[in-house]
Amino acid sequence: MTLTIAKAVYVLLAVGWYIIRIPHERRSRRTPISRSARGAREILLLSISFTGLGILPFIYVATGFPRFANYQFQPILACIGAIVAAAALLLFHLTHRALGRNWSVSLDLRESHRLVTGGVYRYVRHPMYSAFWLWAIAQAFLLPNLVAGLSGLIGFGTLYFFRVGQEERLMVDGFGAEYSDYMARTGRVVPRLFG
Ligand code: SAH
Repeated sequence: MTLTIAKAVYVLLAVGWYIIRIPHERRSRRTPISRSARGAREILLLSISFTGLGILPFIYVATGFPRFANYQFQPILACIGAIVAAAALLLFHLTHRALGRNWSVSLDLRESHRLVTGGVYRYVRHPMYSAFWLWAIAQAFLLPNLVAGLSGLIGFGTLYFFRVGQEERLMVDGFGAEYSDYMARTGRVVPRLFG
């Protein structure tokens, strides 16, 4: 593993994620929304996350900026990053497949929205966010730069912590006891090991 390969793995992760997402993006445009928690706050959170997971690491990969934040490249860390990146892509694929028409980039309930509790949603109620956490972790292992490496954890972490409670309230509003029961038996981003 060299630094160039590690950077290429990061680019493949972003491209792979986008390819997985394209058909869902198209289909979601055709599925009407019945209730939404979109707004200025959501746009701000999505922008912060996009900056951390996409813009800053891409600037680093393309230009090496900001050089002051570079540290020594360790091939073993980059190998771990590549494995985590592959796991993230697999999980993105499984979550998009399970959510189908119910997927949104933002917080929406669609007409004829069904609560998905099967597939990867059986044990975890936010597996797509688990996949983004894996992306952010992979980024930190792959890019030996404090800014470009850690911006994913900070950017996605901001979106996650400000959004996940609001998303669960939207789901409880829409699905009532069905979602509360589902919450009681699942973990947020990691499966529950006990009870
Ligand atoms: N938080 C989920 C989904 C992210 S996509 C995850 O991490 O896997 C966001 C959209 O998914 C929102 O519009 C929300 O209404 C919808 N959603 C979240 N959980 C869902 C579920 N279990 N079944 C169906 N739709 C869900």
